[in-house]
Amino acid sequence: NIRVRFAPSPTGALHIGGIRTALYNYLLAKKFGGTFILRIEDTDQTRYVPGAEAYIIESLRWAGIVPMEGPGFGGAYGPYRQSDRKEIYLEYAQQLVDNGHGYYAFDTPEELDAVRKADENFKYDSKTRLKLKNSLTLSAEEVKRRLNAEEPYVIRLKVPEDQSILIQDLVRDEVSFQSNELDDKVMLKGDGMPTYHLANVIDDRLMKITHVIRGEEWLPSTAHHVLLYRAFGWETEMPRFAHLPLILKPDGKGKLSKRDGFRLGIPVFPISWNGETPEDSFIGFREFGFDPRAMVNFMAFMGWNPGTEQEIFSMDELAEAFTVEKIGKSGARFDFDKAKWFNQQYIMATPDAALAKTVRPIIEAHGHQPAEDFLRSFVGMMKERVILFPDFWTNGAYFFEDFTVFDEATIRKKWKAEGSRVIFAPLVEQLEALSDYTATTVQTCVEAFTANAGLKFGDVLPILRVGLTGTMKGPAVFDMMALLGKAECRRRLERAFD
Ligand code: GLU
Repeated sequence: NIRVRFAPSPTGALHIGGIRTALYNYLLAKKFGGTFILRIEDTDQTRYVPGAEAYIIESLRWAGIVPMEGPGFGGAYGPYRQSDRKEIYLEYAQQLVDNGHGYYAFDTPEELDAVRKADENFKYDSKTRLKLKNSLTLSAEEVKRRLNAEEPYVIRLKVPEDQSILIQDLVRDEVSFQSNELDDKVMLKGDGMPTYHLANVIDDRLMKITHVIRGEEWLPSTAHHVLLYRAFGWETEMPRFAHLPLILKPDGKGKLSKRDGFRLGIPVFPISWNGETPEDSFIGFREFGFDPRAMVNFMAFMGWNPGTEQEIFSMDELAEAFTVEKIGKSGARFDFDKAKWFNQQYIMATPDAALAKTVRPIIEAHGHQPAEDFLRSFVGMMKERVILFPDFWTNGAYFFEDFTVFDEATIRKKWKAEGSRVIFAPLVEQLEALSDYTATTVQTCVEAFTANAGLKFGDVLPILRVGLTGTMKGPAVFDMMALLGKAECRRRLERAFD
């Protein structure tokens, strides 16, 4: 029974890499009918940012990556917020000390700073620990005295000497570490809170996690995690590890950062985040006008591919096709054009009624309350001509109000060159005479007019289009005319050719 977790720290907005991690975990769970768990790793109180947890949950919901267990989602292995599990970690930290795999360290921050100053390569490890103030160097009575006196201490992992640590990573294959290179990491901090390492391992154990899928930046920590599993005697039951490749900048040069979003005007967050300062605020995929399904589809391909030509996948299809083995080792480039391409595909494939629902608020924000039928026809005509949701307004505002930008050049070239608007006046009248104003009747009328006047269809149509919409870009003219209706078309033509 597969159990996977997404374990973000609520230290701010969730970068797109975080959402991708959540997605891959979710897909694996979904594929095998397993469980996707959300665990909030909030033990570092100095980095806690109010609102971050709510942001993470809203982002996941928007993306359709909904936890099956987690804070507010139920589940039998809670609490799922690490700050609510303090006693559990305390117990296990104590166990480390009792079993000789951990020790109390009483060095004050000032003392450690001084050692670091003297030796910039200083590591608290098997060699240096013997010269420092801890339960390995102090007498048992002295340790007891300090503990009884409630002197501040931390509990450190006693990293064993000369051990090799071999990780069978599902993405990176064999990764090995030597224990002599590792420091005696703090497990329990002075404030009684566990560090990430201890809490992460204990929770993965207690929550029966089978697969740890996370970003590559956590690979080095895994060495310590394996040592912890060893120390507790759980090594044979460790979860499998899969470390995901980095997400690279659009030009492929270096890791994608929050700043790149700002610098390049692209979203690198699922939803917007309002930070304290403008530099700390970001526009998300949602606010950019992406369909969450497109974002998910795009993200799925950042580091994974199905090995076939197929690119458009629903969440269910992704889950079916997803395998950890097909996750790539090398960094995945964040290709924003590709993201837009996905969005375009999703918009085109969305039924008009559903699309109208999404587009309505955008149109209403501009002060128009279109009738539902009108709106549906509108999105139907426009959906092959937009990339992001706001484009419906940007490219189609003229459906709702008088256009303000007028393609003079076309008019001048065609209309004026053909003589005068007098030539076209009869067309306006002939259209007016139609009792049934449909795309077909309008077309027949325009064709008849063109033939009678000895004009070319190719000269009349652009003028008609620009006269009605102000622009040469748009859906089929006759469909548009039928939707706008006779009176509105007449009003516009008279205004345009005034
Ligand atoms: N809390 C860690 C983070 O913020 C979790 C890393 C992991 O998945 O083990 O990414």
